Amino acid sequence: MDSRADMKLKGKINIRFILLTLIAIGITMVLSVMVFYELFKKEIMKELVTYTHILSSKESLSELDTIGDRLTAGDGLRITVISSDGQAVYDNMADIAGMENHVNRPEIIQAFEKGYGEDVRQSETLKKSTFYYAVLLDSGEVLRVARESNSIWSIFASAVPVMLIIMVFLVGCAVFVTHYLTKSIVKPIEYMAKDIYHIDNIPAYKEIRPFIDTILKQHEDIMKNAQMRQEFTANVSHELKTPLTSISGYSELIESGMAEETDVQHFAAEIHRNSNRLLTLINDIIRLSELDVTESVPSMERVDLYSIVGMTADMLMINAKKHDVTLSVEGKSSIIMANKMMMEELVYNLTDNAIRYNKKNGSVQVLVYETEKNVVLKVKDTGIGIPDEHKELVFQRFYRVDKSRSKSTGGTGLGLAIVKHIVAKHNASIAIESKVGIGTEITVAFKK
Ligand code: ADP
Repeated sequence: MDSRADMKLKGKINIRFILLTLIAIGITMVLSVMVFYELFKKEIMKELVTYTHILSSKESLSELDTIGDRLTAGDGLRITVISSDGQAVYDNMADIAGMENHVNRPEIIQAFEKGYGEDVRQSETLKKSTFYYAVLLDSGEVLRVARESNSIWSIFASAVPVMLIIMVFLVGCAVFVTHYLTKSIVKPIEYMAKDIYHIDNIPAYKEIRPFIDTILKQHEDIMKNAQMRQEFTANVSHELKTPLTSISGYSELIESGMAEETDVQHFAAEIHRNSNRLLTLINDIIRLSELDVTESVPSMERVDLYSIVGMTADMLMINAKKHDVTLSVEGKSSIIMANKMMMEELVYNLTDNAIRYNKKNGSVQVLVYETEKNVVLKVKDTGIGIPDEHKELVFQRFYRVDKSRSKSTGGTGLGLAIVKHIVAKHNASIAIESKVGIGTEITVAFKK
């Protein structure tokens, strides 16, 4: 990661984190002031209710008068008595003559309706609110007790300095924490970009581990693939070189006139044989690279595996006779979803191998049968067998247990590699069982 992009990322994380902190603090403050104010309101109302009930038990206005004066001085309580027409008949703080009609005040309306009422109203200044509680007396008048107190705004205002101090402190904390947090998030990534192979030396957090593993795995695959291709290219060149050298040599002999009349035919036959070998090799190589390149699924159709086996056996019958091998087919019609051409190639390659790596008077049996879940192709021979240590390797390109035998029977070392590819493309499985000197059995199982 270049350092500018890195700074940008860190800055982004920082700003977002701080913003989040500010929003969180703001919301917390507003909510806590609101909750506090609600409690505060409740407490004041409770107090007003108590006073009102004490006062409502008093007999007369004159009695109220003495208490009222005392309360005004002590608790800042305003006591008003309102008659049923809304006119004030007593007030301990104001002159009742100059007071307006109270009939529209919410707490008075409620008191006349249901026996009690309450309200909170803004005073002239924003700082104060007045809390009212009123009860209907037996006399038909309403007794109202009021008290001025801090409004929600003044509580907010008084909370602001504390809020600011806390905010500054928390933002400081946030900056500090994000700095270390982003550093610990970004650091392993930076290290990784520089040198992914020594990531173990870096204190990476566990969440990043799968990411590292994936990259390492992909990297390894890429390297392996590259190496395989390189090996393949080297092998191909080497394989092509041998027949070409022969062709070149024989033709040169003929060209220079060094070959006797009787040799020419023999040389021509060698040239022919080697060119055929070249053709077979090139065909197999092309086929393999085709299978390699096309990652897509081949076009599939309903294919009768048994009829393909029958056709292939017919084709190879002469070959089998030439090797003194009996070839037999067993089974019944079995349909699979497959690419027909690839199936022909697969059956051909396996059967051809079973004939070529056989013994005189040996036999090859090709079976098609169904199990509960699979359609199975089995190619069984009584041939030379494959030693255990080579069993896994014969599917590799150009791998041959006995190179001269493979060559003398027209093998390229690519047949089983092609088979393996085809099996993979059909989601099938392949198994090989073999005993040296006794025979080989290759089983391909297709899903039904
Ligand atoms: P080739 O063209 O050499 O036959 P394959 O890829 O078909 O190449 O097979 C690879 C090698 O596996 C062969 O060279 C041979 O040594 C061995 N092999 C394949 N099939 C058989 C078999 N049925 N019996 C014994 N060996 C076999």
